[in-house]
Amino acid sequence: MPHTPSFDLHIHAGAERDFTFEDLADRLAGENVSAIGVVDHLELYVDRKPVWAAEAWSWLAENDRLLYGDDTRGLLELLDDFAYFSELCKVPVRRGIETAGKDPIPREIAGKMDFVGLCIQDMGSAGPDWAEGLILQIERFAEAIEPLGVPGVIHHPFRPRLFALKKSAPAAPGEWRKALDGESLKRLAGRVVRSGLSLEINGMTAKSIAEEPGAIESLCGAYAAMKNMGVPFSLGSDRHGLEPAYSLHELARQAGLKRSNCPILKRLSVP
Ligand SMILES: [Zn+2]
Ligand SMILES: [Zn+2]
Repeated sequence: MPHTPSFDLHIHAGAERDFTFEDLADRLAGENVSAIGVVDHLELYVDRKPVWAAEAWSWLAENDRLLYGDDTRGLLELLDDFAYFSELCKVPVRRGIETAGKDPIPREIAGKMDFVGLCIQDMGSAGPDWAEGLILQIERFAEAIEPLGVPGVIHHPFRPRLFALKKSAPAAPGEWRKALDGESLKRLAGRVVRSGLSLEINGMTAKSIAEEPGAIESLCGAYAAMKNMGVPFSLGSDRHGLEPAYSLHELARQAGLKRSNCPILKRLSVP
């Protein structure tokens, strides 16, 4: 019986980190992961920042916690620091960028970045057809990163917040389950396979639905169904601190994932 894969390619360790790389390396050594992916949001380093990114920098400045500049140079410094972090770890560390897909990825960082994550945004404009909204973002992203020659991951595709009926309102309980409807799931799976991207099993998503009875089982059932349709997977805790919000290993186990379902490891030359 092949082992359930255990890795974490979605760890926020950039401008907003409030821990040391040494502490993170220690923590991850205790989790027995076979590969680590550290990321930061591209939007923090672009010229025209979204409101949340501008606010994040102001907060860091006010609290005397500025580690990097807020431009491409800052991002380059961060990627160099990630290389330092990898020296502290016994397993392969890969460097990633998470992007909402709206800003071009600066040419200067090519070669310092191993993968790109698409931060899926809310599907407000897609109306009730959530799958079409998701597919549109996936296809645009796949096309945009093609020339970079690095693998791409679809981050938190089933995040409940995406299924809020109004942008401002929280999602109604169970609304996210629409995403798991058989026909939509099949349509989505087919397009993900064609895109060449990996679909992320996200720890924060699991944490945010864990209180709903049967929710984790439904979610993992959907992952398992997509796996059987040939969808490649990645695993990401999406942690912003040292502790993961939910056990990725447990989710992967429930979805029946094997290493062969995660070809991104091979693309990242993880032995
Ligand atoms: Zn994200
Ligand atoms: Zn993230």
